[in-house]
Amino acid sequence: MELILSDTMGYCGGVSRAIDLVEQAIKTARESGKPVYSVGNVIHNTQVCDSFSREGLIAIESPEGHDPGYVVLRAHGVPDRLHRVFLEAGFTVIDATCPVVKRNLSLLAEYCAEYSIIVIGKEGHPETIALQGVERDGKVCPTILISESSQVLQLPKGKKFAVFVQTTFERTVWDEIRVALHMMEKEGRSFVFANNVCPSSRNRRNAALRLCSQCDAIIVIGGKNSANTTALYQLIKQQGKKVWHIETEQEVTEEMRSYSPLGLTAGASTPPSTIETVRMKLMEEK
Ligand code: SF4
Repeated sequence: MELILSDTMGYCGGVSRAIDLVEQAIKTARESGKPVYSVGNVIHNTQVCDSFSREGLIAIESPEGHDPGYVVLRAHGVPDRLHRVFLEAGFTVIDATCPVVKRNLSLLAEYCAEYSIIVIGKEGHPETIALQGVERDGKVCPTILISESSQVLQLPKGKKFAVFVQTTFERTVWDEIRVALHMMEKEGRSFVFANNVCPSSRNRRNAALRLCSQCDAIIVIGGKNSANTTALYQLIKQQGKKVWHIETEQEVTEEMRSYSPLGLTAGASTPPSTIETVRMKLMEEK
């Protein structure tokens, strides 16, 4: 069987940085005898988070009921209020928010002074929650959440909007929403697109499209809760290809192995070791 690996897949810069910071935090906490926490899952990959948890990292949602120690803020960012309450409760905060996300959060606080803010994102996704929790002068910036193009119709007239998109948002839905917003540029509405989907996500998606031109079937490896991995899966499906979304080599099936060439790609939070074990499993002699 011929296996073709995507030329761009796996960890992005933001995830690598977050993982390094967690490893350092675990080491420092161990040396100082203090507990070490993360706000929720530091990245969207169950295997990586399970491994950190075996090392002593405890995922929590707030400081309440926990002894102060080191707390790592997730790569997706957290609302400003949550950052503040950890500091006020005496925790040492290690900010693993991806610099790309961090820049968007700062920009949102700036735009909030003059614009109504639209957040394009998946409801309940940690990055969307962080975008909805940006504060300016001690107050949360009001935001309007849009997750699909039909919601654009509810936008009030006579306002200028700054639009922020979740960095890993699904491309086709984002394109549809952008078109719908442009169609609303009347009756006094205007839109500034303050950011875009992250270049790392775009590069992985473009590489997946190149893979689609070479293979009829593709495996996407990554957390089932990972937005960028799910977006890769959806993109490949939209190209009419046979596609599977798996987390580990245990999900490799004979059907997958029956395709040749078979493509392999992975989301931005998938470790190289997981990609390698899946590759080895696929190449096993039967
Ligand atoms: S996909 Fe982009 S925004 Fe998200 S963590 Fe990676 S580098 Fe940061």
